[in-house]
Amino acid sequence: MASPHYLPPLRQVAVCGGTHGNEMSGVYLAKHWLRDPSELQRSTFHATVFMSNPRAVEKCVRYIGRDLNRMFTADILNSKGSDADVYEVQRAQEINQIFGPKGSCQAYDFMFDLHNTTANMGSCLIVKSEHSLLPMHMCSYIQKHYTVSPCPIFVYLLPGEESNGVALELGPQPQGVVRADLLAQMRSIVACGLDFIELFNKGTLFPAFEIEAYKLVGRMDYPRYPDGEISAVIHPNLQDKDFQPLKPGDPIFQTLSGDDILYEGDDITYPVFINEAAYYEKKCAFIMTEKHTSSQPALQREL
Ligand SMILES: [Zn+2]
Repeated sequence: MASPHYLPPLRQVAVCGGTHGNEMSGVYLAKHWLRDPSELQRSTFHATVFMSNPRAVEKCVRYIGRDLNRMFTADILNSKGSDADVYEVQRAQEINQIFGPKGSCQAYDFMFDLHNTTANMGSCLIVKSEHSLLPMHMCSYIQKHYTVSPCPIFVYLLPGEESNGVALELGPQPQGVVRADLLAQMRSIVACGLDFIELFNKGTLFPAFEIEAYKLVGRMDYPRYPDGEISAVIHPNLQDKDFQPLKPGDPIFQTLSGDDILYEGDDITYPVFINEAAYYEKKCAFIMTEKHTSSQPALQREL
């Protein structure tokens, strides 16, 4: 048997809600945990709760000036120009200071980032890369131990972004609305992830495994009139079919005169974030993924 990959223990864990101020499971959980964080604590690490974008939360909007999700690049974190007037740019710089510039000794070791989507994503786990060994082991642990609903993994690599953790993306939930069922799911999945960290810190050997994940391969915009207005809506056959195979020739949009628009790709794709409300302005009707199985080596805390 190959020897396990050794990683240092995780001592500082952050749990963030309200990165988008109208995604309410994370907002309500973070508000609750800011009052009483006891359920997040374990014996081997310290968990800190954090409201990422408090002004957006106060106004119940996704963001004030710009999407905080896209702010954690070296360029923006170091920007001092006109960008620096945007609230989310200031906030990203503050967060980077609080959580410690990556590599510094006060840096947090792991972050849970809590999101909701209007798409039918279920209990989706988002990791930056299949090569993020500890997050992939955590996802596998959650898939095994949290059995209320499936937890598909979406691999979403944005070049230049700093990320060391797992994001939860639960849906469908309308923006500005909190549903008790999704809130409970999110709470249980965070607890499961924290249990994994505790076991890892205590020296548990996590064996090698193979795991399936959905990797981003592209984005599909809505059909548009020459003036840029959207000319068709998500096809009823595609609505809510996140993570299900979409074949060449399947309908994806329907015009208001009732014509179907078909998927013209060459290969089967697995659409996700279908009809996500926040993505209309990003010119994205859904994200296309491919299903990919990767082999993960065994993992253990370094001694
Ligand atoms: Zn979000």
